[in-house]
Amino acid sequence: MATKIQTMEAVTEAYIPDEVKNVKLGEERVTVGQKQMINCRADLNQLHPIKYMWAWDKYQAGCANHWMPNEINMAADINLWRDPNGLTEQERIIIERNLGFFSTADSLVANNIVLGIYRHITNPECRQYLLRQAFEEAVHTHAYQHVVESLALDQARIFNMYREVPVVAKKANYALPFTQSLADQTFKTGTPENDQRLLRDLIAYYVVFEGIFFYVGFVQVLSMGRRNKMVGTAEQFQYILRDESMHCNFGIDMINQIKLENPHLWTPEFEKEIRNIIKEGVDLEHEYAVDTMQDGVLGLNSDMFREYLEYIANRRMRQIGMDEEYPGATTPFPWMSEMIDLKKEKNFFETRVTEYQTGGALDWDDEDE
Ligand code: FE
Repeated sequence: MATKIQTMEAVTEAYIPDEVKNVKLGEERVTVGQKQMINCRADLNQLHPIKYMWAWDKYQAGCANHWMPNEINMAADINLWRDPNGLTEQERIIIERNLGFFSTADSLVANNIVLGIYRHITNPECRQYLLRQAFEEAVHTHAYQHVVESLALDQARIFNMYREVPVVAKKANYALPFTQSLADQTFKTGTPENDQRLLRDLIAYYVVFEGIFFYVGFVQVLSMGRRNKMVGTAEQFQYILRDESMHCNFGIDMINQIKLENPHLWTPEFEKEIRNIIKEGVDLEHEYAVDTMQDGVLGLNSDMFREYLEYIANRRMRQIGMDEEYPGATTPFPWMSEMIDLKKEKNFFETRVTEYQTGGALDWDDEDE
């Protein structure tokens, strides 16, 4: 087998992925010391010995959080949606806009993982989590599809909002360049410039896209659930929020580990660029809040969202070792942290028992919004 690989290597060097190329018969076993987040030359097929326990722990926590969209009862939502007096026009806009944004956003994230990030993260335990995350993104897309179908919404209209509704399109367009560079087949890490490019893309996706762009929608839909409206949809979003919180925390761990192993990448100029990327994300998400909340609804208004987004952005910046951009911002939605913690005997909306945990798997130390 080794001979065959070497022969192939000689002939078609460029077409052999490192996962195959680095497997050599008779070589010494992989050691923890050889493992690294990016540019690792060791055999990537061996999970053990595990170096990054945070990645393995999150993989296990993700599995313990398993759920499926069709387990959630949508009957009350269907009745409310059909009732002409059941919801205000503004409330209907909130549901449709968020389905429009999220339904394609999670596909974008999934494609980014599978076609981009996965190739460049050269560590088996992180890849194990990425595989789990990719599946969870598929479950989320399934959840939006399930809601759209349950409410008999116009599927083409909802799934095209990311192209046709300007505030939704702006968020998708913000993210696209970051995934295009990752998915570029000729792109390879290994130079400071390219390693910075990967790090920048990871920050755009995990910190801004999954860490900021989802949160206006989460608050809006969960606020409806708290008022006993669209409780099935809200419950779907509650599970998604819990998953997303973990995705974001995993991304932050990856970013920090890459920083730790490659301190030369985090230059003052790079940090400035990252700060601008995060600020732009906050502005775009605020624009989205303004557009969906013109008159104020559910006791919410767009000023509260500005404050909330600044509060979240501060947290994200601190988490990746930066100074806060918006000192003094506080959360107008302290109840959001309860939403993530589903380790209760019943879920918040009391539609069903939601105890999926097999252990204390939600005890990671870096969450809450
Ligand atoms: Fe996600």
